[in-house]
Amino acid sequence: TTLLEARTVCKSYGDFHALTDVSLSVADGEFISIVGPNGAGKSTLVNVLTGLLRPTSGRVAFRGTDIGGIGPVELARRGMARGFQLVNVFPELTVRETLGVAASSRLKRTGNPLRSLARDREVADAVEEVAEIFNLRHRLDQPARALSQGEKKLLDVASAFALKPELILIDEPTSGVSTGDKHSIMELLIDACRKAGVRGIIQVEHDMDLVARYSDRIVALQAGRVLADEKPEVFFKD
Ligand code: ADP
Ligand code: ADP
Repeated sequence: TTLLEARTVCKSYGDFHALTDVSLSVADGEFISIVGPNGAGKSTLVNVLTGLLRPTSGRVAFRGTDIGGIGPVELARRGMARGFQLVNVFPELTVRETLGVAASSRLKRTGNPLRSLARDREVADAVEEVAEIFNLRHRLDQPARALSQGEKKLLDVASAFALKPELILIDEPTSGVSTGDKHSIMELLIDACRKAGVRGIIQVEHDMDLVARYSDRIVALQAGRVLADEKPEVFFKD
């Protein structure tokens, strides 16, 4: 089955064509890397795929349903989540609070006190669970700004996990992190996906060693077009 499908997506900013006829699909169980030089359209594509930007033309469907402009919170309720670098926006929140914000955004608000109690418990449990998976338990009550660069990246990925998605999108999960830490982050991430029942991963990544090693498929963008959509063996053949 197909988790996510973009069909002939175009996105313009005024007269500028940031994406032209981009098609891609993510099958159940796939790990896809989006690569390309600065300005190729990677961020725009991720924003279109996550409903943050509406395509100028073409369509994006998650599990067969069009997501045109539904927004990240509704999309998370339907099973697709991304990291939002909350740690950069709210560095004073503790790790527990950061994960709690993410986990609770998935759940509908309610005026019923018993239901809100159940909801609070569900959030607290999700926070504990995800902190355990990402080795952040000992950091739960510290402000996010106190974390190392690698831990901040993990916190961002963990926030997306707290939404219990089927498909996860991660923007440069390892940028600014040492080479050794990059591999441990990727391995934690893949292991966490297996444990948490995440069915698909899309990452934007610059580090070609990581891309070659962990992706099932590589989508290369250049000047807003798909230049290649290949398995790593084929992509790195020459
Ligand atoms: P990448 O993530 O690959 O660096 P982006 O998607 O950020 O690429 O940008 C693709 C192109 O679109 C760049 O030339 C960028 O300057 C332009 N762009 C991105 N966002 C906007 C915007 N909101 N308004 C105008 N141009 C934009
Ligand atoms: P990244 O390197 O992560 O793609 P950018 O610096 O390209 O980040 O973009 C940061 C934000 O600025 C994005 O939301 C992008 O859409 C917007 N942006 C990028 N280029 C332009 C532009 N030329 N005009 C207006 N907004 C832009």
